[in-house]
Order: sequence, then C-alpha cells, then structure tokens
Amino acid sequence: MIDFTLTPPQEAIRTQAREFADGELVPNAPRIDRQKEFPHANLRKLAALGWLGVLVPRDLGGAGLDNLTLALIGEQINRGCASTGVTWSVHNSLVCSPLIRHGNADQQRRYLPPLARGEILGAYALTEPGSGSDAAAMVSTARRDGDFYVLNGSKAFITTGGNAGLYIVFARTHPDPSLKAKAISAFLVEATYPGCKPGPSDAKMGIRGSSTVTLYLEDCRVPAANRLGEEGKGFHIAMDTLDGGRIGIATQALGIGQAALDAAVAWMRESAGDPAIYESQPNQWRVAEAATELDAARLLVWRAALLRDLKQPHTPQAAMAKLFASTSTNRIVRDALALRGEAAIIGDTPFERFFRDARITELYEGTSEIQKIVIARSLLKP
Ligand SMILES: Cc1cc2nc3c(=O)[nH]c(=O)nc-3n(C[C@H](O)[C@H](O)[C@H](O)COP(=O)(O)OP(=O)(O)OC[C@H]3O[C@@H](n4cnc5c(N)ncnc54)[C@H](O)[C@@H]3O)c2cc1C
Repeated sequence: MIDFTLTPPQEAIRTQAREFADGELVPNAPRIDRQKEFPHANLRKLAALGWLGVLVPRDLGGAGLDNLTLALIGEQINRGCASTGVTWSVHNSLVCSPLIRHGNADQQRRYLPPLARGEILGAYALTEPGSGSDAAAMVSTARRDGDFYVLNGSKAFITTGGNAGLYIVFARTHPDPSLKAKAISAFLVEATYPGCKPGPSDAKMGIRGSSTVTLYLEDCRVPAANRLGEEGKGFHIAMDTLDGGRIGIATQALGIGQAALDAAVAWMRESAGDPAIYESQPNQWRVAEAATELDAARLLVWRAALLRDLKQPHTPQAAMAKLFASTSTNRIVRDALALRGEAAIIGDTPFERFFRDARITELYEGTSEIQKIVIARSLLKP
C-alpha cells in the first residue's frame, strides 16, 4: 500500500522549488533557448540550494533526500527551463545515483562531494553511433593494461558532454561477442584524462541550452580503481540507472506539460472578454483533459519514485511513467499551441519552445517503443 500524501518537508521543498523556478528559471528560459546558452548560472544557483546532490548522503556533502523529493524538485525545474532540467536530471539521476548505488567508498568519497557542490558536472555515456535502443550492441572497448583500462570508441548524444568533469562510460571488457551484455563494464572517466575528447555540441530542435556531443575515447587510460562495479556488471548498472533516469525524464515531461497548461489557462483568462476563446468548449475540454492527464502522470511518477525509495522493483512502473507523461505532454503542448493560435509560432510566446522541448522526452533514455517493450516484457514473463 502506497500513501501519496506528501510529508511537511516534501511540501515545503516543493513550494521552495516552485518559487525558485518562477523567480530564477522562468525569466531566463527564453534567452537560454534562443542563444543556445549552457545554463551555467542556473546550475550554480541549484548547487547553492544543495540540489546538485539531491540524493547524495549528507556526510558526503549532499542534501540526503529521496527520489520522490527529486521528482518534486524536478517537475518545478523543468517547468521553468527544460534545458536546465535535463542537465540537472542527468547529473543527479544518471551520475550521482549510480555512484551512490554501485560505487565503492573510495569512489564515493572522491567524486560525490565535488558533484554535490557543483564543482564538476556529470555525464552518462551509453549510446554509440551504431547502438541506441539496443545498447548492448555497443562496440567501444576497455582493455586491461596493468593497473589501468585503455578505452577506445565513441559515444553519441552525450548530454552535458564538453561541460562535464566526470563521465560514466560503458565499454566492452571482453572481446567475445557471444557474451553480449555480460561483456560490458562501467568506468568513471575524468574529463582531464588524456584521450577523453568531447566533440562540438550538436544543434537540436529543443532543449537547446543543454549540450549534446559525441565523446571520443582514444587510448584513454582509466585507473582500474575507477571501474564502477564488477567487470561484466556494467549493463546491469546502466539499466538500473535508467530506471531512475526514466523517472527523471517523466518528471521533465510533467514540468513542460504543466508549463504549457499554465500558459494556456493564463491566455484563456486574459481573453475573458472574448467568448470565442474563453467560453469555447473545445478550449475548455483541452485544458480539462490536460489537467487530468498531468495529474495521472504525476501519480505515476510519484509511484515509481516511491518504489525506488522503498528499494522495490520498479522497472515497468518507471517505463509507464515515462511513456504516459511524455505521450500526454506532447499532446498537451500541441493542444496549447492550437489554443493560442498563430501567435504561438510567430510571436514572442513560450508555446513553441514547449512544443520543441517536449518532443525529446519521447526519445531519450529509451524511446516510447522501448518503454512499451519493457512494460510488455514485465506482463508476459512467465
Ligand atoms: C538530445 C539527446 C540527448 C541524449 N542524451 C544521452 C546521454 O546523455 N547519454 C546517452 O547515453 N544517450 C543519450 N541520448 C541517446 C538516446 O538515449 C537515444 O537516442 C535513444 O535511446 C534512441 O536511440 P537511437 O537514437 O540510436 O535510435 P534507434 O535505436 O536507432 O531507434 C530508431 C527508431 O527505431 C525504434 N526502435 C528501435 N528498436 C526497436 C524495437 N526493438 N522495437 C520497436 N521499435 C524500435 C525506436 O523507438 C526509434 O523510433 C540522447 C539523445 C538525444 C536526442
């Protein structure tokens, strides 16, 4: 039985995050998008609040909070600025989280305090130019050489690449192709290691303030002490991490969808004198359906986060949250655009940014098709 009542501290942090988003993120989001500006200033403010180490234990410099609180904060950050939101989500969910769950004490002591303080940002390098959905088909290699591994290969679409101080990189530690996922290991690769070379940021239709690069690994020597988890357990770590990451992207979709609904409702209220807009039943149904779907998405996100906090299985629940939140939000932003009319795409309104930002939530950390495969597998397994 799961109780969805938020505790007073959770309610307080949700209010704090809402006020932070309204005061600090919303005003700058149009500029960050227009100028494709990496959100350094926003990240510094998030670090000051302790929110670059939301899950990091307090004795390692973090806020020591739970995944549900991470989702509460994440919805507000993404409502304010999705470019900041994805950078923040990758840092917390795809880098700090696996270090907490799979790192040894030495690795946690070396990397979690600077990550939590925002002195370095984290990036997660799983995808390759030839393997996205089928991540186990990766070809990057890590060859053991004494006290080091030598990494070679390239990683595609790496969020925060070029701005990160630490990459979690997945590579094959065994040449036998029949081992498939069991040949993959995870490594903590510092950006300063020779042979770790991020390319330029890709141009994107949305979340344009975040950086997305190809990461090249050319004879990159990584100390054996920086292997995360056991040899051959990298794929398990990658998937366990993505369970949390998918809650993060569902949260991002929720934030963008809420921002679009808020903007649509504000426009209808402003237009109260115009019955064609304010009293239009199609418009009223659009916002009614959007509010209902967002509440449903929020409950799915909270359930998945709570299960992760309770250390209970949550792979299909995280996939459901991401599938539902991202699909709903794409419909919501399209409807909001239609409701606002042609001014939404030619004027200075946020509607078209929400539309562009929302699209990516159906793609990364597993496309909608992949989420359906994950959910179906959980239903059909004997
Ligand atoms: C902006 C951005 C940021 C990203 N950030 C990161 C990051 O930080 N780290 C990282 O490692 N990766 C990152 N990615 C990669 C992202 O996770 C992948 O793009 C995603 O997993 C899909 O892989 P792909 O693009 O290779 O598509 P493909 O796997 O080639 O899929 C193409 C299409 O085929 C469909 N498809 C594939 N397999 C199946 C199947 N079995 N059944 C049905 N349909 C299928 C897919 O749903 C999709 O529609 C990012 C991507 C983007 C665009």
